[in-house]
Amino acid sequence: MSSRLSVSLRIAIVQLNPQIGQVSSNISRAWSLINRIKESSNGKSPDLVVFPEFALTGYNFHSRDHILPYATAPDVGQSFKMAQEVSRLFNCYTVIGYPERFENGTKPLLYNSAAVTSPTGELVFNYRKSFLYYTDDDWGCKENPKGFQTFPLHLKQRATDKNGNLQDITLKTSIGICMDLSPYKFTAPFHDYEFATYNVDQGTELIICPMAWLHSSSVTKDEGKLSQKKLQAIRDATEAQGLPIQGSQGQYQFDFDNSKKTVRTSRDVSSSYCDLEQPDMSNVNYWILRFLPFLALRQRESWLWRLEQTRRSYMGATSTKPWKFEGQNAIVVFANRCGIEDASTVFAGSSGVIKFNGSRSDRECEIDSTNKSVELLGNLGKGLEGVLMRDVEFKVAR
Ligand code: GLN
Repeated sequence: MSSRLSVSLRIAIVQLNPQIGQVSSNISRAWSLINRIKESSNGKSPDLVVFPEFALTGYNFHSRDHILPYATAPDVGQSFKMAQEVSRLFNCYTVIGYPERFENGTKPLLYNSAAVTSPTGELVFNYRKSFLYYTDDDWGCKENPKGFQTFPLHLKQRATDKNGNLQDITLKTSIGICMDLSPYKFTAPFHDYEFATYNVDQGTELIICPMAWLHSSSVTKDEGKLSQKKLQAIRDATEAQGLPIQGSQGQYQFDFDNSKKTVRTSRDVSSSYCDLEQPDMSNVNYWILRFLPFLALRQRESWLWRLEQTRRSYMGATSTKPWKFEGQNAIVVFANRCGIEDASTVFAGSSGVIKFNGSRSDRECEIDSTNKSVELLGNLGKGLEGVLMRDVEFKVAR
């Protein structure tokens, strides 16, 4: 018989607006944020600190030559050093997105990766992005040959059993870097929910997402005539807020208040690039939608008969159970960057922590933040650098 343990973790997310070619100022702002965590955590420091995708380098690299000076092996370079120092400072795990260079004969391979450092500052895991975005293709990024992966995160004295005894716990953990949450190359069927399905099937308990997710005001590849209008709108939006074209830097938002939950709103909210201290709920809702297999849904009861006997679940259902995740918990950490690159790529910020509580409510039929089986523990704004810190509690079976 398996028993249930209650896990408590303090998680901090660092939301940054890094610009290419300005690594040292990106790093110094990151340190201002980290130092503020140190001053404000009342002796209880975070167990996990998560930085965005390409957190210190900037994201929009356009060619192999452009990115090469910034790409390093996982355990050297500025990003690793930052993660290592943060881990040692707080005695915590740190996850940081960075461009990886892997020596392979004459021509090194390049990956979009996330390094994980342990409380003693050792590199304990390195994940490479599996699903690539157009921008990753521009500089010759390779896909993770291993695909999605889980790894064990060992935490000292963070679980409590039913008698109230504290014990060590190893959490089944995975990393999804931004596009990993989307349909493969935007061409796979939307309803495959590849990343979420993988995690439901693996029983992942903690999902860490370093991201450089775009805001809807961004100009993307296929927008043709619309793009002039959108470029102008970006200039207008920044000007109206007295900001430079790269967006806000150094005007920090700190949210360490556990009671400050994100207000649930349905997905049809307009999303212009203003109110930078508020999360962009259309993005938050979209991320939740991409985790549909983790959501309680009344509709699932009627899907069961359609499924053939397979090892994989489909939209959260298996051939024997309408909802595989029922009764479980999972935490998802979204560490998204903010700001603007190339006067055209606007990032959505809105970093946050959610908890899927696995609770069955036969009434749930929404696939957004109004579904009560997802708890929105807090989100930063769409356009300010800052830190979100939350104490999360969840159950695991052991
Ligand atoms: N799907 C993501 C987006 O549209 C991909 C961006 C990324 O991988 N950085 O923003």
